[in-house]
Amino acid sequence: MATQTTGEYLLLLPEGSPVYLYMRAVGREMLLQVVPAKYLNILLAIMQQESGGNAEATGGDIMQASESIDGNLGNITSAEESIKQGVSYFGHLIEIAQELNIQDIRVIVQSYNYGAGFLAFAKEHGGVYSEEISNSFRQKMQDEYDWYGYGDPDYVAHVFRYLNVVSTEGSPGVFRFPIPTTRPYLSYGFGSRIHPLFGSEDFHKGLDFLAKEGTPIYSSIEGEVSVVRNESMGLCVITRLENISVYYMHLSATNLEEGELVQAGTIIGLMGNTGYSTESHLHFQVEIDGTPIDPLPFFSLDDYDR
Ligand SMILES: [Zn+2]
Repeated sequence: MATQTTGEYLLLLPEGSPVYLYMRAVGREMLLQVVPAKYLNILLAIMQQESGGNAEATGGDIMQASESIDGNLGNITSAEESIKQGVSYFGHLIEIAQELNIQDIRVIVQSYNYGAGFLAFAKEHGGVYSEEISNSFRQKMQDEYDWYGYGDPDYVAHVFRYLNVVSTEGSPGVFRFPIPTTRPYLSYGFGSRIHPLFGSEDFHKGLDFLAKEGTPIYSSIEGEVSVVRNESMGLCVITRLENISVYYMHLSATNLEEGELVQAGTIIGLMGNTGYSTESHLHFQVEIDGTPIDPLPFFSLDDYDR
């Protein structure tokens, strides 16, 4: 089983954030520009901070990347261009950080806001991020250029509130997308939300993918079918591989039986609207040793076009 480290930072975006919808576009751009996949969630958290994924409110520049071209606003007029430039700029910062042997990702994140000059400044001051270093760089820029209020000195805190840092150890590996779409359309991500049926606050333990009833659902990972049942979560298939359980809920049909082996890509069943469900969707849930995790960072970027 392949392993990757994109799970180092789990995403904690606000409920319904449109940033989730740009995941594929950002991931694709990272592949094209050879920016390591482990930074995907950091870039999405940066997008959340810069615009909340709101293209209209930012004239299209959802990564607020225009200034990284030539210091001016207004160079970018579409989300596509903004992602391209934002990824390019971030990749550039990573390269400089590598040359300077800066290991602290927070320094790179702060430099997305302050500019590449912050990397060298941080290096001179030990190479590790601190509020003090951030504030003194800001002071230096304000003094040197007679600018008032340079950048966001708390940018690191502002970005990292959308990330939950976890260990990469025990990484469950790469999941394939369970639906055959060029765009993983998520209606609900992992985490706290207001329940769409009950109106109460609950913890959403998986991802909801929206598509038409009857859409084929593919296994995200190999394993053995441990459960096929029909109850409150509708028709549900659960597969198990060592300590990883994967749930596919609200199906309209399945041909699988308990004990069957599946590979990544095997048809699990068809999308449906069974059980507690308001519209045709797949509730996709992954548990490690019985604890639900956010599977989003563990999807294979290679499968985006499947
Ligand atoms: Zn759900």
